[in-house]
Amino acid sequence: MDDSMLSCLTHPVYAITGEVASQMGIRAFAVGGVIRDVFLHRTSKDIDIVVLGSGIEVAEAVAKSISDKIEVHCYKNFGTAQFMYHDAKIEFVGARKESYRPHSRKPVVENGTMVEDLKRRDFTINAFAVALNGNEKGMLIDLFNGLQDLHDKIIRTPLDPDFTFSDDPLRMMRAVRFASQLGFRIYDKTFKAIRRNAERLEIVSMERVMDEFNKILLSPKPSIGIRLLEESGLLRYFLPQLLDLKGVEYIEGKGHKDNFLHTLEVVDKVALASRDLWLLWAALLHDIAKSRTKKYDPEHGWTFHGHEILGSKMAFSIFRKLHLPANEKLKHVQKLIALHLRPIALVEDTITDSAVRRLLFEAGDDIDDLMLLCEADITSKNPEKVRRFLDNFAKVREKLKEIEEKDRLRNWQPPVDGELIMHTFQILPSQPVGIIKTTIREAILDGLIPNEKDAAVKLMIEEGEKLGLTVVNPPYGI
Ligand code: ATP
Ligand code: MG
Repeated sequence: MDDSMLSCLTHPVYAITGEVASQMGIRAFAVGGVIRDVFLHRTSKDIDIVVLGSGIEVAEAVAKSISDKIEVHCYKNFGTAQFMYHDAKIEFVGARKESYRPHSRKPVVENGTMVEDLKRRDFTINAFAVALNGNEKGMLIDLFNGLQDLHDKIIRTPLDPDFTFSDDPLRMMRAVRFASQLGFRIYDKTFKAIRRNAERLEIVSMERVMDEFNKILLSPKPSIGIRLLEESGLLRYFLPQLLDLKGVEYIEGKGHKDNFLHTLEVVDKVALASRDLWLLWAALLHDIAKSRTKKYDPEHGWTFHGHEILGSKMAFSIFRKLHLPANEKLKHVQKLIALHLRPIALVEDTITDSAVRRLLFEAGDDIDDLMLLCEADITSKNPEKVRRFLDNFAKVREKLKEIEEKDRLRNWQPPVDGELIMHTFQILPSQPVGIIKTTIREAILDGLIPNEKDAAVKLMIEEGEKLGLTVVNPPYGI
């Protein structure tokens, strides 16, 4: 009996499953990504177990033998069951032969053998199994030379790629995702098949496509995946706006940046510094409106006026089409896009306190992400220019820190609110309340008064009197 692989599968559920399934006379196997991750020295949080029998019955028996308290979730339609144990999600399924009808997303599931089960997996590196009991206990089953492909860093389908991809077109996204995550190459025949079948991505739900795309964005160098999506033709089916940024136009011998390549560079730079998915989305979309705002002006050359505002609006429709969250995540992305030129504009002028205060006021808690995005946005072939920008940028950062400490403008709350104004002058909600509030805010942002209550109250009274109001209830302390 060969126990070699079992010593690598350290989670306690493997041994327990082996025993319980043996008592039931059922063979059980650990399969898929979890075995791949052993070889890649990665820990996986999801454990998949395939049994030659009922996945639901084995899951229930295994859970019961561990403790009565484990809650097993059964999905009868899919013949799967899962539960949480020792920080991992353990999923059980009976070996199956699954096929997707050509124009439908609903799989037809039939009982099958282990070989059938492994054949319907996406890639050779995901098609391993390790027997948890029986004569082959501990043995690695590698029907499609997955070990060799892992070693050669190749993504390849176990069967004819046209068959694998038409069975479930999401696998094309997964191929790119693994290439980007692991830095692997997609096997030539596999890649050609993705090109041929790209259009079939349209039958896949947007949620599944986005799950994979978000993993591409979160990979160490997202441009690897995004380029592959572009070259394979997949990108066109969910984010065609990005393709509009490709290429350089020349007029009178003057060209502009290739905004697609620039975007990739910015996304890669952000990825080096952050694992925040929404910041990565902001980087991906920061120049998305450049193709629509592009103009050539004989005096100023190429301009993209207002691309940050239009881009922020486009983010809204793109998120909706891609079924991405429509909540504060979207707002965060929109805000970063809308403000992405501001820090660099500060650098170009002399850096005044009031401009820095305004930026802090508008960006609020997003200021750190905005600075990161903006710094990543500095890409140029001219190293001297980049160095000069980065030096100036460091000055903006210093100034931001200094002003933030002094004026505490991040998430600014007005030192005088509408209630106090109405009470002081004994007036109802009305235009003068708004005018006084704006005057106080502007005076603080311009540095005319400090960000403090006493100074703000004094200005409130002066401004109220200018508007013909009388102090009826003098604020406490005045
Ligand atoms: P990760 O968990 O890192 O996202 P994974 O390879 O473990 O990657 P899962 O989605 O957890 O991916 O799937 C587990 C296993 O199930 C895979 O390794 C693969 O064998 C199989 N699998 C998942 N999705 C598909 C699919 N669409 N087509 C074929 N096999 C799949
Ligand atoms: Mg997994």
